[in-house]
Amino acid sequence: MPAEALHDPPIDCPLCPRLVAFREHWKTQEPDWFNGPVPTWVGSVGSKSIKLLIIGMAPGLRGANRTGRPFTGDYAGDLLYGTLKKYGFASGEYGGEANDGLQLNQTAITNAVRCVPPENKPVATETNSCRSFLKATFVRFPELQVAITLGKLAHDSTVRALGERVAGNPFGHCVHHDTKPFSLISSYHCSRYNTNTGKLTTEMFERVFARAADIVQRKI
Ligand code: SF4
Repeated sequence: MPAEALHDPPIDCPLCPRLVAFREHWKTQEPDWFNGPVPTWVGSVGSKSIKLLIIGMAPGLRGANRTGRPFTGDYAGDLLYGTLKKYGFASGEYGGEANDGLQLNQTAITNAVRCVPPENKPVATETNSCRSFLKATFVRFPELQVAITLGKLAHDSTVRALGERVAGNPFGHCVHHDTKPFSLISSYHCSRYNTNTGKLTTEMFERVFARAADIVQRKI
């Protein structure tokens, strides 16, 4: 299978030398951590039942890079999973570990950049290189109805992956974009920085998921 068709990168993906070096560094420092490209989390359901896709920026060093599951093990996960549960997109208890038993309902979670970047900042070439996996992820979920993009980097990369113009689909909080074959809702990222500074409140974040729930329910 050609690399362009892979929806999850190989564990030793070599495409971004800076991120490969960072992965290798942390493998030495923390050999029990995941320390690799974090795959999309689909839960135990099949790809054809996925209606909502959450797209984050990149794994957090001590979150997904440690646990191997997107948004798991750091602050951003507390807010994301609590909100997913509230709107019926997840069930069970979120425990901050990949084996906590939490289930996703009609939902998958991925990142625009699959490897943890130094200082939480991917560069453009890395985002561009990882986009082939994002594009293949869209193909993987043929019944996808809406994607929530968390932060501008994830949003812009998703718009480009769909072959649309970023200028025609500008990032903004809780903005709905009528893209094809599924629509997008852009949202501020649920990072501790954004919530601590008041840029994103729980209520603002919940509005995004209420809108997504409305879209999914309307099309079932
Ligand atoms: S960020 Fe993506 S493209 Fe770059 S090395 Fe990791 S998996 Fe490969």
